[in-house]
Amino acid sequence: MSNLHRSWVESANRAETDFPLNNLPYGMVSRPGEAPRCGVAIGDQVLDLAGLEAQGLLSFGGVLGTAGWNAFMALGPEAWQRLRAELTALLSEGAAQRETVAPHLIPLSDVALHMPFAVTEYTDFYAGRHHATNVGTMFRGAENALPPNWLHIPIGYNGRASSVVVSGTEITRPHGQLKGPQDAAPRFGPSQRFDIELEMGAIVGQPSTGPLSVDEAFANIFGYVLLNDWSARDIQAWEYQPLGPFQAKATATTISPWIVTAAALEPFRAATPAREVALLPHLQDTGPMLYDIDLQVGLAPDGGAETIIARTNYKEMYYSAAQQLAHHASSGCPMRVGDLLGSGTISGPARENRGSLLELSWGGKEPFQLDTGETRSFIADGDTLSLYGAALGEGYRIGFGPCTGRVGPARA
Ligand code: CA
Repeated sequence: MSNLHRSWVESANRAETDFPLNNLPYGMVSRPGEAPRCGVAIGDQVLDLAGLEAQGLLSFGGVLGTAGWNAFMALGPEAWQRLRAELTALLSEGAAQRETVAPHLIPLSDVALHMPFAVTEYTDFYAGRHHATNVGTMFRGAENALPPNWLHIPIGYNGRASSVVVSGTEITRPHGQLKGPQDAAPRFGPSQRFDIELEMGAIVGQPSTGPLSVDEAFANIFGYVLLNDWSARDIQAWEYQPLGPFQAKATATTISPWIVTAAALEPFRAATPAREVALLPHLQDTGPMLYDIDLQVGLAPDGGAETIIARTNYKEMYYSAAQQLAHHASSGCPMRVGDLLGSGTISGPARENRGSLLELSWGGKEPFQLDTGETRSFIADGDTLSLYGAALGEGYRIGFGPCTGRVGPARA
């Protein structure tokens, strides 16, 4: 485990900041009336990288002035390493360029945060064993909880890139076909069982046109975000057989605003759990490719205090993002810069580790209590749901910034 790298930006040296020098997460920021530009968070500041490049302190062919991190990702791993090394040098305690860099810092409180990259495609997986077991038990019974393919491939489906939004975007409760009990005819109306899924999103930073080994897939992942896969359980229950999720997941997917790079997470690599059956060779683990990232879910009722309703860890996943990407590419499926891969809901073994309200309330049968005294089975209008994540080092944390969305009522 590495130690805190000290910066001349004093707020970056505080133990509670999400953004020490060890992190250097990439986002898109704007001041009022200005276009979004590439920035890196450092303590309670953001460093304007387009401004640094314009002044000649960085040289990446102008891509840091473009709308999103896709063009930079396309430059490839050597550029990824060079930018991180140059930013580390510019921001380290005692850096000679401090006086020229400092004017390019903007307080985080002064900027709006935008989508950090253009999502070219979005795929969502179902690769957390505790979640799959919980949901399978609810719907099929404990004996048949895991589908027969589950221990052999990371199950996934092609989702919608068009509805991926950045943290802070208001979410509208969806309408859909809802099925009543037994023989009742379906009706069309607002979802009554609107839910979250606590996930990590992996961002593909290099294109590919054929199968990838797990090692190649790992090297192609640029970074990670927190991801909330908003899910309408009642719409899902009616529509998903026999093919899988469609409208139940299409309303919105919220991501956190900062791309935390694989390089920043390197000291926190963690192994997947023991295999119950061996994976086929093209998906086998070649090293620790998960990360030890503490995760939390908060729920704040309209105007009320937030309750942390779940705590878990990314290392609970059964499959790594590298294994998911290798599986995705194994058919020859081309992958593009900006492809977003949702991990699947990250639940742990205990009740408090459950990464969805469906699991926390056990399908609505066991409502859970908030600190305000209210209870919930699913999301109420006006609720704000937030995901938090951080890898915890010695005296520092590699944080993601919150991934938040307030749910407004369905449109009339
Ligand atoms: Ca999901």
